[in-house]
Amino acid sequence: MSIATLEISSSALLHNVKTLKNYAPTSELMAVIKANAYGHGQIEVATILSGKVNCFGVARLSEAIFLRKAGIQDDIVLLEGLFKHEDPHSLIHYKLSTFVGAVFQIEQLDSLHSASDSISVWFKLDTGMHRLGFRLEEANEMFNRLLTVDVVKKPINISTHFFNGDDPSGKDNKEQIKRCDDFIEQLSTDKVGLVSIAASSGVLNEPKSHRDLIRVGISLYGVSPFALTDFNLNSGHKLGLKSAMTFKSEVIAIRRHKQNETTSYGGVWKSESDTNLGVIAVGYGDGYPRNIKSGTQVLINGKHYSIVGHVCMDMLMVDLGLHNNVHVGDEVILWGSDLPVEQIAGENEMSAYELLTRLTSRSKIIVVK
Ligand SMILES: *Cc1c(COP(=O)(O)O)cnc(C)c1O
Repeated sequence: MSIATLEISSSALLHNVKTLKNYAPTSELMAVIKANAYGHGQIEVATILSGKVNCFGVARLSEAIFLRKAGIQDDIVLLEGLFKHEDPHSLIHYKLSTFVGAVFQIEQLDSLHSASDSISVWFKLDTGMHRLGFRLEEANEMFNRLLTVDVVKKPINISTHFFNGDDPSGKDNKEQIKRCDDFIEQLSTDKVGLVSIAASSGVLNEPKSHRDLIRVGISLYGVSPFALTDFNLNSGHKLGLKSAMTFKSEVIAIRRHKQNETTSYGGVWKSESDTNLGVIAVGYGDGYPRNIKSGTQVLINGKHYSIVGHVCMDMLMVDLGLHNNVHVGDEVILWGSDLPVEQIAGENEMSAYELLTRLTSRSKIIVVK
């Protein structure tokens, strides 16, 4: 086996697509594969899911082009739309769909002289996230303006995004749904295409948000979008999802360690008694964070051991105890189905989204059944 490996399970990904479709049986499904598919490998995930989902969502034009150059032919949607400096011809050249949430993006489309109705767009409505998208008071005017753009496919799709989707009370979600519905209601129905509101949290938490298309990222990978403090209640596993990634490495040294000795930089951890330390070939250079707390668990041969001392760039240390059955060369699991990434995140006051997306290219991706 290779050191610092991300084992990606194609059957888990396909299971999650099926499960999410069961949550939202009448909706189409966008697989969100931005940020290297949340660390799972953009091309690997796109290849597994190609033809099995309705479209892919990405955050950057470069991510879309990367997929096209790898031969992916499915519909790809730019979730942030084009940036100001980007050439709108790339939408035509690479056959992309795009979100539109700013005047300059309407102008970019208007500058194109291509066949009528050739670009599928999503009108992005700001109902509370206050990040991108048209404000409610300008939305009507902007929607009408977009309708006049020749290359834009009619009717026009409409999308909005929850800012508090993982709040179990769902109070803000309901308010945002109402704002979205109020906007749609005053448009003539023949102008409105598909509607999309839910990302993972909406799919799992708010059936009224399912609509025509769900945009699923984190849940696709088997990871819960919910409050990470109670990962036992709300882990991906509890929601019927399967963890698609096993992050693993191996033991490269086992050392005797005396009471009161420290390990790693700064000497922040000290042993209470004589023990053995296992040195594991994974560190922040692979994307396992440096500031993980001592006491965070890894799995070796099915047993939990605690990380001790600061994580280094290429290695970390675990306390194996005086008596153990661990050998140099044994496999170590940093997270996976038996040690959820939600748990590592929750115990360290971090976000599972961030843990996954900070994995680096040194961690080798291997696709398994
Ligand atoms: C990233 C993103 C998603 C996916 O969110 P998850 O919580 O990972 O499911 C959906 N919609 C938009 C607009 C996004 O940027």
